[in-house]
Amino acid sequence: TDPALIRNFCIIAHIDHGKSTLADRMLQITGVVEDRQMRAQYLDRMDIERERGITIKSQAVRIPFTALDDRTYTLDLIDTPGHVDFTYEVSRSLAACEGAILLVDAAQGIEAQTLANLYMALENDLTIIPVLNKIDLPAAQPEKYAEELAGIIGCEPSDVLKVSAKTGEGVEELLNEIVNQIPPPVGEADAPARAMIFDSVYDTYRGVVTYVRVVDGHLSPRERIQMMSTRASHEILEIGVSSPEPTKSKGLAVGEVGYIITGVKDVRQSKVGDTITTLNKPAGEMLAGYQEPKPMVFSGLYPIDGTDYPVLRDALEKLQLNDAALAFEPETSAALGFGFRCGFLGLLHLEITRARLEREFNLDLISTAPNVIYRVDMEDGAEHVVTNPSEFPAGKIEAIYEPMVKATLLSPSDHIGQIMELCQDRRGELQGMDYLSEDRVEMRYTLPMAEIVFDFFDALKSRTKGYASLDYEPIGEQQADLVKVDILLQGEPVDAFSAIVHKEKAYAYGVEMTKKLRELIPRQQFEVPVQAAIGARVIARENIRAIRKDVLSKCYGGDISRKRKLLEKQKEGKKRMKMVGRVEVPQEAFISALSTD
Ligand code: GDP
Ligand code: MG
Repeated sequence: TDPALIRNFCIIAHIDHGKSTLADRMLQITGVVEDRQMRAQYLDRMDIERERGITIKSQAVRIPFTALDDRTYTLDLIDTPGHVDFTYEVSRSLAACEGAILLVDAAQGIEAQTLANLYMALENDLTIIPVLNKIDLPAAQPEKYAEELAGIIGCEPSDVLKVSAKTGEGVEELLNEIVNQIPPPVGEADAPARAMIFDSVYDTYRGVVTYVRVVDGHLSPRERIQMMSTRASHEILEIGVSSPEPTKSKGLAVGEVGYIITGVKDVRQSKVGDTITTLNKPAGEMLAGYQEPKPMVFSGLYPIDGTDYPVLRDALEKLQLNDAALAFEPETSAALGFGFRCGFLGLLHLEITRARLEREFNLDLISTAPNVIYRVDMEDGAEHVVTNPSEFPAGKIEAIYEPMVKATLLSPSDHIGQIMELCQDRRGELQGMDYLSEDRVEMRYTLPMAEIVFDFFDALKSRTKGYASLDYEPIGEQQADLVKVDILLQGEPVDAFSAIVHKEKAYAYGVEMTKKLRELIPRQQFEVPVQAAIGARVIARENIRAIRKDVLSKCYGGDISRKRKLLEKQKEGKKRMKMVGRVEVPQEAFISALSTD
């Protein structure tokens, strides 16, 4: 294809503002997908994406479009995920485009995450086309939000397009504007090939499918290619474009977006951000890459049925083929048995991974409370990186550091007070505040990441009736007054409940956990103290009173078969018991205590 006829673009939008629906309409209007094959959210392939209505993996699709000038253009739409956990996926999609549609719900206005992605697009020198969606809604306020968008981007309110992805109104004009405003890709056709990997997914039938954008030169089938970062070389077995089903082609030239298959089985051999060149005419310099995704949030994952451990290991390995950001290593817990300490980008990433493990691999899992990474300096000079609170080092501590984030919150201005209160409660520091329009405000805070990963988002939503939105990015670490709180049953620590918390919150955590466990753990033959402690110092205590538990006393003599049944039942129940010291705890109690609310 002549690069002058190519337009590579993506859509930046907050969840639910209509990105998938807009993509659907574009596919339909251009005839890529026939009406009778059309199903909602055509590009969202994973079941879990469809159910939760979010896009996780970026997808690329080629859309041929005949513009007003009667020429047929190749529009490559690169879909991007909208959630804060997946920012790194957005950054790589942006690097493959010359332009972005900034899609905003005309009844809601722009949200914090969208603003963050917009800034990222501007940093990448992308052409931005501002678009208000859902103008068919009675609650839409296109004039008001056009002004807001114009203020943020620095254009005229009349430059803001207005569409309904649902009815299709305005979508054809939008396609024409993409052709008019977004520049065609530039590259050198005769130079050594350089193609950027912007996604790489594992497919059970085809192995790793690598999505690339060719910057210079040309890639052809059967050609031997080289990954510039690792020098590993492979043969291209298949090359093609998604339109939207994978369609083989004779090759990919300057500016083209498509996929290649080399038969490798592990996505780590086809690293996102790497540059592909050819072996017989290798390029000298790599393209600028991306930052590697780094796990930020850790949690222990354990099978409820211990015999599922090998299944869990296989399942994690399979998911990792597709998800370079997922980390895991084996871990054992006295309370929960054998499992894995897993690293995630954020809470949603954790939830989605867990849901996929349970659904796609038929596993029943329990996960421990998520925590961030801490760095601990000891007085003797040793340094520890702690991803599991129960492995917190013993001995004299010089300083503890925790990861910090810069958070951006957007909200109607009548909720400023509640937001400040919440952020203060979470050890946040206000950095600045701006009005986006007369009744909407942007607030910037630095906050400890640990204070955000639990229930911050829910708390924010409930305090602002759902109107506030949040985005955050890591900004390094900071020293803090943190302590490790242990939960003890009859003097024995229960590893799964150890937590690293701020000094001022240690007491509240101790009281809450001891109360919870007292209610959940059945009475034993003897009294069992439940304590929370910092080192040797007990900060909270509850007692589980003793009972004499004699199941047989219930059925005086009489019915022998009933007696036997009861005994068997008790035996079965015992199998699922875990011993903590002398205390028998049903696994259920741990599971309930660990599940939030
Ligand atoms: P995404 O999360 O950005 O991909 O958003 P979706 O495309 O999944 O849309 C979210 C919801 O908004 C869905 O229920 C859509 O049917 C609805 N929606 C999308 N575009 C429009 C529109 O133009 N008008 C109306 N009324 N609803 C829309
Ligand atoms: Mg979507």
